[in-house]
Amino acid sequence: MKIAIVAEKAEGESRVAASPEAVKALVGKGAEVSIEAGAGAAAYIGDEVFKEAGAKIVKTRQSLVKDADIVLAVRRPEEATVKAMKSGAVLVGQLDPYGDRKGIEAMAAAGVVGFAMELMPRITRAQSMDVLSSQANLAGYKAVVDAASLFNRAMPMMMTAAGTVPPARLFVMGAGVAGLQAIATARRLGAVVSATDVRRAAGEQVESLGAKFVMVEAEGEDLETAGGYAKEMSEDYKRRQAELVAEHVKAQDIVVTTALIPGRPAPKLITKEMVESMKPGSIVVDLAVERGGNCELSKPGEIVEHKGVKIVGHPNLPSRLSGNASPLYAKNLVTFLGVIMGEKGELTIDWDDEIVAATALTRDGELVNPIFEQ
Ligand code: NAD
Repeated sequence: MKIAIVAEKAEGESRVAASPEAVKALVGKGAEVSIEAGAGAAAYIGDEVFKEAGAKIVKTRQSLVKDADIVLAVRRPEEATVKAMKSGAVLVGQLDPYGDRKGIEAMAAAGVVGFAMELMPRITRAQSMDVLSSQANLAGYKAVVDAASLFNRAMPMMMTAAGTVPPARLFVMGAGVAGLQAIATARRLGAVVSATDVRRAAGEQVESLGAKFVMVEAEGEDLETAGGYAKEMSEDYKRRQAELVAEHVKAQDIVVTTALIPGRPAPKLITKEMVESMKPGSIVVDLAVERGGNCELSKPGEIVEHKGVKIVGHPNLPSRLSGNASPLYAKNLVTFLGVIMGEKGELTIDWDDEIVAATALTRDGELVNPIFEQ
C-alpha cells in the first residue's frame, strides 16, 4: 500500500496531513509512506523528522501522487494533482463537499475515490476520526486568545491597592465544539461568560462550564437535526433571537461567534446596529467568517474597526495552531484509514459501512454522497 502526503498549497494553510506519529503508525501497518518535500515546514515539522519516522521524501508532486494508492491532504488539492492520481486511488481530506462543484466533478472524472472528512457522522464510533471536532476545538481556544490580545483591558478581575479591575464580559454565540472550548478558555482567563445556541441540549454543557446560558424559547420548533446539528431557523425565531441578542450584546466586552448550519451560509446574528451598541474597545471574533460570517461587518482576513469596535475575521484559525492541529488531524486520518484498510494494509472498502457511506464523495466516476441528492 503506497500512501502519499501532499504539501498544502492554499494561501495561509500551515497544516500538514501527517505527523511523525502518524507516519510511524502507517509504516507499522506495512504501508510505504511518501511525503512531499517541505510539506511540514509551515507546521515546523522538518523533512528529516518525517524521514526518521519512516517516510520517504519526494521532491516533485507528480511523482509523489502518480503511484499512490491513497493520498492524504488537509484540503482538496488542485485539479492538476487530482488528475495525476491513478484511477481508483483514494483521496482523503477536507474536500469541501458543499463548495465548488466543478472541483468535485473533476475528482470523479479522474476516477478518484474521494472521502470528505467534513462529512464524518457524529456517532461515538467516529469520534476519533472527527476532523471538524479536533480542529474546531483549537479554533475556539484561539479565538479567545486572539480577543484577549487585542482587548485593551484585562480579562480577570484584579483587586489591587490602586483599585479594582472588573472582569471582562464575554459572550459566545453557538455552543458547539468551538464554542464550548471558547467558553472554557475564557473562564480560565477569568472572564464572566455567557453563551447562546439554538439547540436546547447545549444549555447543560454551557452551564457545566460555569457560563450562563441565554436562549430564545422555541415552542414546538425542533431546532436540532438527528445528526446533532442546527437547522435553519424560522423568520419568527430569527426576529426573537435578534431582540434577545441586541439586548445582551450591549453589555458585552467580547463576543465570539461560531454559529454554523451545515451546507448553508452562516446565520447573520450580529448586525451593524448591535456592534454600534457595544462600548468602544470591544471585540467581536467571527469564527464563521469563511462561511459568510455571523457578523454583518466581518471581512475574511481582516480586523475591521467600526466605531471603536474591532471585528476580527481571521480565516482558518486551526492553521494558526498548526503545531497541534496537524498531529490531531493526522491522527483522525490514520484512524479513518483503519476503516478502509484491512489487516495486511490492503484497501477493503465496505460501501455499506455507516462511516464510509457518509464520507464517500466520488466513486467510479460518479458523485455518490447523499448531500448531492438534497
Ligand atoms: P457547528 O460547527 O455546525 O455549529 C456551531 C454551533 O452553532 C452549533 O452548536 C449550532 O447549534 C450553533 N448554531 C447554529 N445556528 C445558530 C444560531 N442561529 N444561533 C445560535 N447558535 C447557532 O456545530 P459543531 O460544533 O460541529 O457541533 C454540532 C453538534 O455535534 C453538537 O451537538 C455537538 O455536541 C455534536 N458533536 C457530536 C460528536 C460525536 O458524538 N461524535 C462530535 C462532535 C460534535
